[in-house]
Amino acid sequence: MDAMRFATIGSTLHLITDDTPGRRRGVALPGSVVDAFDQWDATLAAAASIDPSASVALDDAMLVAPSPSPRQVFGIGLNYRAHADETGAAHPKAPNVFTKWVSCLTGPYGAVELPTDTVDWECELVVVMGRLTRHVSASGAWDHVAGLCVGQDLSERQVQRTPPANQFSCGKSFATFGPMGPTLVTADELRGAGLDPDDLALRCSIDGETVQESRTGDMIFGVSALIEYLSRIVTLLPGDVIFTGTPSGVGVARTPQRWLAPGQELVSEIEGLGVMRHRCVAADVSFR
Ligand code: ZN
Repeated sequence: MDAMRFATIGSTLHLITDDTPGRRRGVALPGSVVDAFDQWDATLAAAASIDPSASVALDDAMLVAPSPSPRQVFGIGLNYRAHADETGAAHPKAPNVFTKWVSCLTGPYGAVELPTDTVDWECELVVVMGRLTRHVSASGAWDHVAGLCVGQDLSERQVQRTPPANQFSCGKSFATFGPMGPTLVTADELRGAGLDPDDLALRCSIDGETVQESRTGDMIFGVSALIEYLSRIVTLLPGDVIFTGTPSGVGVARTPQRWLAPGQELVSEIEGLGVMRHRCVAADVSFR
């Protein structure tokens, strides 16, 4: 059993010994966070032998994305039935895949920048890979996962829907459009807490008002199916990140449509994984 939580500060992965927001504690693991994912078995072994009395206070404001420099970042569109329905799209027969470019990743707290007045929220379960993964079947997929965290797939809807074809990767890759965190939680940690890693409650709120509320069990393609599908096409690398799709309740599908505004607090949470809090600010340079 590898029931553990991790957080990244700078380029160092830490084993979390107390995951209480505001007073987290942890122990730095040897090597860089890139090495830590590349040699995930060794990382788990090192974490298992750590002396918890060596833990130090970890300032929440220092936390960066748990996998801050993955080689590949995948996004999945229309992966919840009610969300596909609210956008008027047909339910996909295969995962609807795009990429978020890695420079959009940011940590679990602090500011997210709005380059326009049509930026939307998408609270999502995020998977971080722990092994090189090719042609893996769904039944073996969880063994290739390092852990899970909360994510926001922030989306500039006008860029995303630039005709004649969609521009998902552009619309979803502005700076700070990929918050992840707060910590990376292993599937065993969730199971040990009596939770099912395939069925976690998820919630997103703006200034305290709930705008998305669902369960990851409602995904059309669950974590195992996504990894099986992706790994038949792309070699998944340790530290790679998968944003698994958002449930219903996004702003673009509302009548009237609704967007994030400077000053608002965006809160994203998933059962067992924790809570991310971001303050929306106007970007220094607007897109239009
Ligand atoms: Zn999304």
